[in-house]
Amino acid sequence: KYIELLPIIEKVIDNQQVQTDVHRIILESFDGNDLILGDSSKIEQVFTNLISNAIKYSPSGGPVYLRLYEENSLLHIEVEDHGLGIPENAAADIFNKFYRVDNSDRRRIGGTGLGLSIVQEIVRAHDGYVSFKSKYGEGSTFIVSIPGVYKPSHGLDENIHQSGTRYEVLVIED
Ligand code: ATP
Ligand code: MG
Repeated sequence: KYIELLPIIEKVIDNQQVQTDVHRIILESFDGNDLILGDSSKIEQVFTNLISNAIKYSPSGGPVYLRLYEENSLLHIEVEDHGLGIPENAAADIFNKFYRVDNSDRRRIGGTGLGLSIVQEIVRAHDGYVSFKSKYGEGSTFIVSIPGVYKPSHGLDENIHQSGTRYEVLVIED
């Protein structure tokens, strides 16, 4: 089923923003519509896990930026925080089940180590991938990349019909 990413992300932002007084979650995106073939509750889980990590591992607060853009027929969604960051020696394990970074800067922060493995599993099931960049002590950016279409104000995909400023899917086949 085709779903729109942006409304799902906006919903997760609203749900996560009420969890914290010291972070501001800021969405930077385009005017237009995006569509991916996917499961909206699973996609919601992906962004819940990523945004809750961004908050949890930025214990002194700060902005959390979300950016949505298209590149090479993929929709990319970045979640950027200015928190603890990920030490280089943990980078290879970060998506493993039950893996948690055991550094003194986060020993009091709880969790099971499952969040990112679930993110990776769901994104891969959507034929996408998840990556990250981080500088220890400065922050992290996780990037979800999923096949999808995004149509700004010009150009039409054969499956997509423009009505007003919105786009509707005319042919839906699973
Ligand atoms: P759970 O998500 O299951 O509650 P968790 O947050 O420990 O537990 P993951 O979300 O899989 O598990 O993250 C694994 C580890 O990666 C974390 O223990 C944390 O140290 C590190 N990590 C994840 N996201 C970030 C982030 N945004 N900034 C810094 N470290 C992070
Ligand atoms: Mg987590």
